[in-house]
Amino acid sequence: MSSLETELEYRLAELDKAHLLRHLRVIGSPQATEVEINGKALLNFSSNDYLGLASHPMLKEEAEKAIRQWGTGSGASRLICGSLKLHHELEETLAAFKGAEAAIVFSSGYATALGVITALIGKSDFAIIDKLVHASIVDAARLSGATLRIFDHNDLADLEKTLQWVDRKKQSEIGARQQTLIITETVFSMDGDIAPLKQIVELKEKYGAWLMVDEAHATGLLGKNRSGLVEAEGLTGRVEVQMGTLGKAVGSAGGYVAGSRRLIDYLINKARSFIFSTAPVPAQSAAALAGIRLIQSAEGAALVQVCFARVEQFRRDLAGTGLQTSGQTPIQPIIIGDEQKALWVGASLREKGFLAPAIRYPTVARGAARLRVTFSATHTENQVRQLTHALVEAIA
Ligand SMILES: *Cc1c(COP(=O)(O)O)cnc(C)c1O
Repeated sequence: MSSLETELEYRLAELDKAHLLRHLRVIGSPQATEVEINGKALLNFSSNDYLGLASHPMLKEEAEKAIRQWGTGSGASRLICGSLKLHHELEETLAAFKGAEAAIVFSSGYATALGVITALIGKSDFAIIDKLVHASIVDAARLSGATLRIFDHNDLADLEKTLQWVDRKKQSEIGARQQTLIITETVFSMDGDIAPLKQIVELKEKYGAWLMVDEAHATGLLGKNRSGLVEAEGLTGRVEVQMGTLGKAVGSAGGYVAGSRRLIDYLINKARSFIFSTAPVPAQSAAALAGIRLIQSAEGAALVQVCFARVEQFRRDLAGTGLQTSGQTPIQPIIIGDEQKALWVGASLREKGFLAPAIRYPTVARGAARLRVTFSATHTENQVRQLTHALVEAIA
């Protein structure tokens, strides 16, 4: 074996020993409530397709039309020759949806976080992030070279302490133009809980910091117009940078930022994952555009209502079984703790016909392994009831 192969064999064995080895499961069916894995039909309680838009006839139709009109590829990056009218239409629709002046789309949410954060802050600045933010934000904050500080999850007192620490640091280095960017998620991806956004906005205003929120799991679900927590809390106009993904409730793929016209003009010039990457493909942008429009329609309102009704039912069904969950959203974590036990419970559920896989380190902290159960408007009451029974049996 070559040196690389020997080393990789060793590293994979180490992961396996720690019950942290992962592999891909091939799905032979479209994303839907029922998926087929290795020829076995499973009820899917693990997707982020909260409204069932990933297989919605209208989105499929719009994606097909876009391929016929625009082709399959976008040709180049947006600044070279890939800035299709379709992308601009999507951005205008997104800006209006988010109550912002402008928006810009990226090929993924991960690329969005990377491009935006590294464009906004650098070596002389400070990044303050919630302990549980998504890996894309952690990676971006590190890559930016800014001084990175982490505050305890949703802990306002710890956030304020951190802001005071940064203030003291800044005073000791007068002269430099040092900025502070606070970054949090609005709905947390692995815990399903909600950030105290109003108070975070008040703190960032008090300390003169900037705020960026990742609405990946709130977009399409929260607020009267279903645009996210910023809208639900009446904070439109008070958050500098609103980011999210088009790959979850919106039913397509890609990421976006919404904010001031000046912010977007700046990102077009400085966000490297935007500048040096091929534009999103037409089918993806057309499906996202249809998804945003559908979310704003009466059908979107009805789908959100059904999705939350399933969550409420699950919480009612679970009460009295001894199992606990804490999420206030379609993300309902069942904390198991031990990685090996979580894997075992996930496997046992799979045998019973349910897909709700174990989530382990490094996606969540060591010893905080869990089943991440997610609900969609496409689940029936009966399917939710079946899941509860299977969960109780698998964990007992
Ligand atoms: C999924 C997710 C992302 C990444 O978005 P993609 O479009 O999947 O790359 C970023 N932030 C959060 C909080 C997410 O859950």
